Amino acid sequence: MDMGIKGRKAIVCAASKGLGRGCAEALAAEGVELTICARTADVLEAAAAEIRKSTGAKVTAVACDVTTEAGRKALLAACPNPDILINNAGGPPPGDFKDFSLADWRAAVEGNMITPIALIHATVYGMMERGFGRILNITSYSVKSPIPTLELSNGARAGLTGAVSALSRRTAARNVTINALLPGPFETDRLRATSTKMAASRGVSFEAVHDARKKEVPAARFGTTAEFGATAAFLCSAHAGYITGQNVVMDGGSFNSTM
Ligand code: NAD
Repeated sequence: MDMGIKGRKAIVCAASKGLGRGCAEALAAEGVELTICARTADVLEAAAAEIRKSTGAKVTAVACDVTTEAGRKALLAACPNPDILINNAGGPPPGDFKDFSLADWRAAVEGNMITPIALIHATVYGMMERGFGRILNITSYSVKSPIPTLELSNGARAGLTGAVSALSRRTAARNVTINALLPGPFETDRLRATSTKMAASRGVSFEAVHDARKKEVPAARFGTTAEFGATAAFLCSAHAGYITGQNVVMDGGSFNSTM
């Protein structure tokens, strides 16, 4: 299916690897012009070159920390009027509620709530004026079902969800949608890093932990970044203008509820 977004401009945050990269590749394959960011310049440049080569899309790489004001300024300078904005950044570290300092909470809120809000604020009004916009926040299934060790993430991401839920209804009449995609376990560096940590703390092998986690998923596997990107591309497509304010869980059936 043609997504109807050829020639549109997109900012995809945190896109050198993992879920952001999956979104960037899927949009590029639809003929979208990309501005992507990540913190490590050489890894980001390599990702941009690979996407250009495989899709022929125009890709601008901005090496920056998107959770800083300077980083967001650089990103917006490279693409001041995006039609599509995919918000993403690294997630807060795991831990125990009793050990988290206020500084930890502030960092989590800054990275996973304030940062996407700032980028939405800078871009949504232009989108509304132009009559087209797709904003997609990559959050987590922890917004629906809290993860005990990820309280920083549970809180900051749920805060973002609440912060834009009314706005997403106000933008829809101007063909601007705001949705969130809530990943469960996807095979990325981040997931592998958490399995490595779990294995070390339990004194077992990486494979034992990683396979056991996989078996917990009703789909009996982890998600792929390609299928995450394809779903993101659809939510950013011309066909998805009637979907707004939604939190789409993509987790192989892990979140257990009747509806
Ligand atoms: P990943 O480690 O595979 O990739 C993260 C990407 O983000 C990299 O390109 C990295 O360079 C970039 N990045 C990180 N912090 C950044 C920053 N401050 N500024 C700019 N770029 C930055 O991670 P992933 O698995 O793709 O996860 C992406 C997001 O989704 C994270 O917030 C993660 O917590 C969340 N998430 C992931 C899963 C999963 O199973 N993979 C599940 C739920 C939520």
